[in-house]
Amino acid sequence: MVSGDGPYLTDADGREYVDLVCSWGPMILGHSHPEVIGAVQAAVARGTSFGTPGEGEVELAEEIVARVGPVEQVRLVSSGTEATMSAIRLARGFTGRPKVIKFAGCYHGHVDALLAAAGSGVATFGLPDTPGVTGAQAGETVVLPYNDLEAVRAAFAAHPGEIACVITEASPGNMGVVPPLPGFNAGLKELCADNGALFISDEVMTGFRVSRSGWFGLDGVVPDLMTFGKVMGGGFPAAAFGGRADVMAQLAPAGPVYQAGTLSGNPIATAAGVAQLRLLDDAAYDKVDTASAQLRALVTEELAKAGVAHRVQNAGSMFTVFFTDEDVTDYAKAKAQQAFRFTPFFHSMLSQGVYLPPSAFESWFLSTAHDERALERVAEALPGAARAAAEATE
Ligand SMILES: *Cc1c(COP(=O)(O)O)cnc(C)c1O
Repeated sequence: MVSGDGPYLTDADGREYVDLVCSWGPMILGHSHPEVIGAVQAAVARGTSFGTPGEGEVELAEEIVARVGPVEQVRLVSSGTEATMSAIRLARGFTGRPKVIKFAGCYHGHVDALLAAAGSGVATFGLPDTPGVTGAQAGETVVLPYNDLEAVRAAFAAHPGEIACVITEASPGNMGVVPPLPGFNAGLKELCADNGALFISDEVMTGFRVSRSGWFGLDGVVPDLMTFGKVMGGGFPAAAFGGRADVMAQLAPAGPVYQAGTLSGNPIATAAGVAQLRLLDDAAYDKVDTASAQLRALVTEELAKAGVAHRVQNAGSMFTVFFTDEDVTDYAKAKAQQAFRFTPFFHSMLSQGVYLPPSAFESWFLSTAHDERALERVAEALPGAARAAAEATE
């Protein structure tokens, strides 16, 4: 791709696509939003990195703290991977315990210890795990099935006093969109509290996307630590982790748990993030939610017409089309879908000028720029793609 404008991307051959990836979530205002670009241009003119906190870093931190109640203090980093890696180090440092519980199909960036049974690209390519991660690096990671509180209870019983934290996607999007069953996040929080472990909610994907305060704004469960990325950077590398002040106080330089980053809180990235978040008011979220509901209805209608078994699952405006006739509640069920139908569906959409996430295990993303014209173009492409999915053979 060579340029982006609103809901569209243009490739090197000059072809235009309706973009339903939105850079995997960050571009919630669409591409090249004039106010974000303006903020970036003004920031560039003032200098590109100072190696000490700047105004933008403070403003972005204040914006996050104002929006997300459980975040009393926040540290900026440059990627979601750094945010989850640092949050886990902090949880281990704070509790003095080694083990981490994660869920199969959840993706928390390419942190060595968290690549076990991970979602996202690891799921797309069907990798069991990845070469380069040693047994020792993954050895303290306990991987459990998603949405299974009994399994979490059993793991706490099997490793008394050893579990530092449970990390989960607030509402998973990296095995496709698989929301927590009612009470699951609250149950995790309670089990962590009962067992002296920290509850880490990874909102890198859902944060500032599914509501102005992310998934927390929808389910209200208060985590000990949270991680953010994607939307908060406005299309630049900015991410964060934060939460309880007594836990954050353990971070260097105030405390002993080391964390640092040369370009963390970079002035260009924070200018973009602040500009984007300030434009994300209730009206903006309503707009994205409405466009998402319209698109989900269109997809459902065309797949039903073509006789293709499917489930369209959403978490706020994020959604995935699973080729299955069963609700998808965990990674095993996500993998059991007829993923072979996705490939011809995807290529039919692409050839008709609609760019979908190129995997059956990812979320589709919309922006405030996805207007009637853009949705109309998707609607025109769907019947052909639904037929291609219907005709697919394994
Ligand atoms: C994208 C993502 C990450 C990793 O973020 P990067 O910026 O790609 O390192 C971590 N957790 C979740 C839930 C994500 O969706």
